Amino acid sequence: MDSDEADRREGPSDLSPAEAFALVGHEHRVAILRALLAESRDGEYPASFARLRERAGIEVSAQFSYHLDELTGHFVRQTDEGYELRYAGWEIATSILAGTYNERAEFGPTPISGDCPECGAADLQAAYREEWFSIRCAACGSRHIRYPLPPGAIGPRSLDEVLSAFDRYVRTQMELARNGVCPGCFGVMEVRTAAGEADESDFPNGRVAIYDCQRCGNRLYPPLGLFLLGDERVRQFLWDHGRPPSETPFWAFEFCVSDEAVAVEETDPWQARVEVTADGETLVATVDEALQVTSATVE
Ligand SMILES: [Zn+2]
Ligand SMILES: [Zn+2]
Repeated sequence: MDSDEADRREGPSDLSPAEAFALVGHEHRVAILRALLAESRDGEYPASFARLRERAGIEVSAQFSYHLDELTGHFVRQTDEGYELRYAGWEIATSILAGTYNERAEFGPTPISGDCPECGAADLQAAYREEWFSIRCAACGSRHIRYPLPPGAIGPRSLDEVLSAFDRYVRTQMELARNGVCPGCFGVMEVRTAAGEADESDFPNGRVAIYDCQRCGNRLYPPLGLFLLGDERVRQFLWDHGRPPSETPFWAFEFCVSDEAVAVEETDPWQARVEVTADGETLVATVDEALQVTSATVE
């Protein structure tokens, strides 16, 4: 039986979340998780006891052994070949690298290239504060996007690379949501649509469709068009009109940063139209209540 099969056979943990977190509340245990991740990247993996102790830098063998035992089961898996990370251990070790728990970073507002999709001014600025990344236009004051990003995304990159990473990250998160997966807790996300005259408190920023996670309450409500950037027909239209969507950051597209070109057409069943304009032509995309494109025609 391989270790994957063994995992699937295990039942729910009998630890509470607080007890599980307490298990990693020691610097040696954090060092062990980080050492295992490092071994998985460029060392011996599964890692032997001796190899792992060396990489974790814990000199007293009895101490190392004690802390490793505490982690084994929930965060570390022991196999015949050695020690490896379980998903929970991997999640913690990678989140530490992402800077999620203890790093701070900030920059900007810093001028970035590109024109404001709303006013046309070449006056865009990016800023990172309190783990929120934002892009706004200094000329017209429009804020095109504000979205949380772990501090670890900033450190190792140039400004252009940070912008590119942020662009991809946001798109991926929206695609996950549109496919029903919460990017925060992996619970089920469901879309709610408004009937045009939306109750403002429930549909912030005048949005007509928002995603809510049924488990953690995570809520995503970008402009409707941002969800359509993953649609093949929309992408083809942009390619054909000189705005390749994979080479253009999403905030350069007006339909991705504003609901100006969105109209709710029907409420039962719900249907909305989104106008995507490029190079003097407009693609009218009709979307259903699952935010899937049901038709796309050039007008
Ligand atoms: Zn502007
Ligand atoms: Zn969630």
